[in-house]
Formats: sequence, C-alpha cells, structure tokens
Amino acid sequence: MKRFIAILLSSIITLTVAAQRPPADQVKLRGGELTIQPIMHASLVLAYHQMNIYVDPTGGGSAYKGMAAPDVIIITDIHGDHFDLKTIDSINTKNAVLVVPKAVADKLPATMNKQKIVVLNNGETTKQQGVSIKAIPMYNLPEEAESRHPKGRGNGYVLTIADKNIYISGDTEDIPEMRALTNIDIAFVCMNLPYTMDVTQASQGVLAFKPAIVYPYHHRGQDINTFKSLVNAGNASIDVRLREWYGGAK
Ligand code: ZN
Repeated sequence: MKRFIAILLSSIITLTVAAQRPPADQVKLRGGELTIQPIMHASLVLAYHQMNIYVDPTGGGSAYKGMAAPDVIIITDIHGDHFDLKTIDSINTKNAVLVVPKAVADKLPATMNKQKIVVLNNGETTKQQGVSIKAIPMYNLPEEAESRHPKGRGNGYVLTIADKNIYISGDTEDIPEMRALTNIDIAFVCMNLPYTMDVTQASQGVLAFKPAIVYPYHHRGQDINTFKSLVNAGNASIDVRLREWYGGAK
C-alpha cells in the first residue's frame, strides 16, 4: 500500500510539473513530425523521431521531468536565463553533445568530457545527429564592446532538420544578419527591454526575413499581441504563434 501511494504521489507530481509546460506543437517535416515543446522564457525542446534537442535548458531538472534525455544541448550565451549549470547537472546528459559559443565553453567545468563539447563561433556550422547547426550572430545595437550582448560572444542558431530551417534568435536586436536570413520555416524571436528589443523592432526584423511561422519567446513583460498585430499588418501570411512561456515556473 505504501508503495502504491508513493507511485501515485510521484505520478501526480510528474503530471503537475508536466501540466506547467504549455502543450507541445507538431510541425510536419519531410519524413516525420517535429515536436516543439516550449519550456519557459528562452528554453525549449525540439524532438524529431528519437532525437531530442534541448535549447538553453534552464528552470531546474523538474522542468524536464518525464521528457526524453537530450542528444544535443544548444546554448546561446552566458547569462543565467540561457546557461544554467545546475539545470544541466540535473538532467541526463550521458549521451548529449553540447553546442556552445566559446564564452560558454570557458565556463563549463573542467571535469566535463571535452569530446562532448562543440564550440561554434558566429558563422560556423556543425552537424550533430543529422541536424545541421549554424551559429548566427546575436548582439545589441549600436555595437559596443561594453553592451549587454557584444557581437561575437553569443550565438543565435539556424538548425536544419529534414527539410526545415529553424531559427533561434538568442538575445539580439533586429541586426542585419537576422534581416538577411532566408528560407526560415520556424523562428523563435526574442523581445524584452532593456536586454534585447521591443515588439516594434522585433516585428520589423521578422517582416524583413519572413519566416513561415514565428514564435515570440524570451518576451517577459512585452505585449506579444501587439507584436502579432504588427507582423500580420505587414504580412498576413506569417503564422505568429503565441504560447504560454511563463505559465508555470515564473
Ligand atoms: Zn536572455
């Protein structure tokens, strides 16, 4: 009986934690479905067949409870809302490769298996588990060495999974490198002041590169309904998807 109650309790806890996550989205790719699981703020999980990519995992191990372990962990920058060693330590990283900018690699503990760390500079590409991962600049404007996000330190990414290109902006403004992106099927674009950009600037950036689908993320304190209106006023065919990135774990 005790054991039964323990199992019951643990499944209730699992369900409660899982319930804090917004529902996952499915997008059809050539050869299968991509599952997009928002976690919170800048953290998300992409799953395709048996392959799981954790992007900027934060929020502690409980935020990932019940999910498959990562094969690839992608980190954009050094700040705590993107890079959190405690969370990384509390998930099963046994089979995971970490794709990170050098500034993040420098902060990884020396005990971490170096063979599992792939350092990418802006503009470089790696292929992991059949997924091409290209590092895109992310930075504040105007460009200044002392800005919160100086150019070259962090990476946005374009992932190519099957036939789709997925852009993850990281912390950036509507920089020329974002505006020049082409053939983006799914985009995750940040907006929050004073760290990145406001919804007007974000909408202008998005209208420049015209992704088929865009998720505003990393948007604490911003009016994402206004972002959606601004994008769709300029281009009604962009699918702007508003999700609960701050639902459970604020
Ligand atoms: Zn951030």
